[in-house]
Amino acid sequence: MNSLTSRIRQTLQKTYSPEEAKALAMMICCDMLGLNALDIYTGKDIILSASTHCELENILLRLQKHEPIQYIRGFAEFYGNSFRVAPGVLIPRPETVELVEMIVKEHTAMAPAVLDIGTGSGCIAISLAKALPKAKVTAWDISEEALTIARYNSEKLEVNVRFEKQDVLLEGISSEVQYDVIVSNPPYILEGEKLAMEANVLEWEPEQALFVPDNDPLLFYRRIADLGRELLLPNGKIYFEINQAYGNEVRDMLREMHYKEIEVINDFFGNPRMVKANK
Ligand code: GLN
Repeated sequence: MNSLTSRIRQTLQKTYSPEEAKALAMMICCDMLGLNALDIYTGKDIILSASTHCELENILLRLQKHEPIQYIRGFAEFYGNSFRVAPGVLIPRPETVELVEMIVKEHTAMAPAVLDIGTGSGCIAISLAKALPKAKVTAWDISEEALTIARYNSEKLEVNVRFEKQDVLLEGISSEVQYDVIVSNPPYILEGEKLAMEANVLEWEPEQALFVPDNDPLLFYRRIADLGRELLLPNGKIYFEINQAYGNEVRDMLREMHYKEIEVINDFFGNPRMVKANK
């Protein structure tokens, strides 16, 4: 550590834990300001140009306001690819990678028709289209802003995904296409959970992507499962990311709706995070 990284760490420790401040300081110096990593590690004195100094001050100001580093950098890593992100879309989470991995594993070398509901940055839809090149992927979102970002990501990552503006909660959605897979990571946080949320999520990420309307934890799952009865092919499957507090409720609801082979699956933290079921 040299005096530059120490200074950055000290500044950030007013807002972040020592570990977070250290990781952020290294990321800022090596990845964002493009300083020589060897100089940083060997403690060589670094003199910043006026413009780099300005850039650094700007990054620190934004971080002190709890802005997520992914929004500041403009991208987030997900399933081996870099996705553009901005405050209009949720930052892809590592748990969601597990959902993608599960679908990929179960459809390798196949050509499934896939529908991703509430695509946000497009991370699920685009990752599936990349990993399953024969898949035909459609993705819905209610937000025009999200669709613009998702379209940009699909072009940058060179996959063909059909994006459609759609409010899944609206009655009367019909589709000429039927799907082998419906996947969704819908908003699933309840009003009462706000208190436990980090400022970088609560103050920066889109409310519409986080909080379920009417404080009804099953709202999106019920609606999507209902839609699945019409939109899924006879052997089609549904894959959900869920709020860890509602695994049993989502399972029971799917059972009542006559879905079969329902499984609630833990994420790598050991929390029930995914549900899959067959039509
Ligand atoms: N897992 C996200 C979080 O904890 C929430 C994602 C969602 O609501 N679908 O912030």
